[in-house]
Amino acid sequence: MRLFVAAPLPLDVRERLAGLCAGLPRARWVEPHNMHITLRFIGEVDGDAAEDADAALAQVRHQAFDLGLAGIGHFGSGRRVRSVWAGVEGAEELVHLRQKVESALVRAGHDPEHRKFHPHVTLARLKSTPAARLGDYAAAHNGFAVAPFRLERFTLFQSRRGNERVHYEALAEYPLAG
Ligand code: ATP
Ligand code: MG
Repeated sequence: MRLFVAAPLPLDVRERLAGLCAGLPRARWVEPHNMHITLRFIGEVDGDAAEDADAALAQVRHQAFDLGLAGIGHFGSGRRVRSVWAGVEGAEELVHLRQKVESALVRAGHDPEHRKFHPHVTLARLKSTPAARLGDYAAAHNGFAVAPFRLERFTLFQSRRGNERVHYEALAEYPLAG
């Protein structure tokens, strides 16, 4: 099974983000129910490893905290822009939480993640979208912001693929202390 750990987003935040999901040719938009902030991509594991990951994540202790969204960005450049995302504002606590998630998973036997953490909400995957169109899109939405909301839990998701569509199923939720 293909797993990842993420911060789920409140419905009203996903509704705001859905308002950004138009106006780019050749974009594959993320469906609002799938929107999230990835904390740690785990990848393909068997059932035993998934249980170990769950047990390790259940040990993570962290306070609930506030998180906002602001701005639009992208990964890749020029003709190879791969994705467009909304940025996270005030991510310090999210970085702390991610570090705890990372240590827990390494203790559970996973390889350490060496890639830098770039907190974001993916809005679309792109394939050869003209750079000028991306520029117009970014300019139109650059003032995008969502007022801080409280993150009260994080989630272990299973990523499943059915005919063309990806679906994320919450396997477990871990509360952050109030
Ligand atoms: P698809 O791969 O079909 O475009 P997807 O990327 O949404 O769909 P997954 O590849 O299962 O589905 O990814 C689940 C989540 O983990 C997404 O937020 C994705 O951006 C993130 N992710 C996937 N691969 C990695 C990786 N190698 N490193 C960091 N995050 C990743
Ligand atoms: Mg992917």
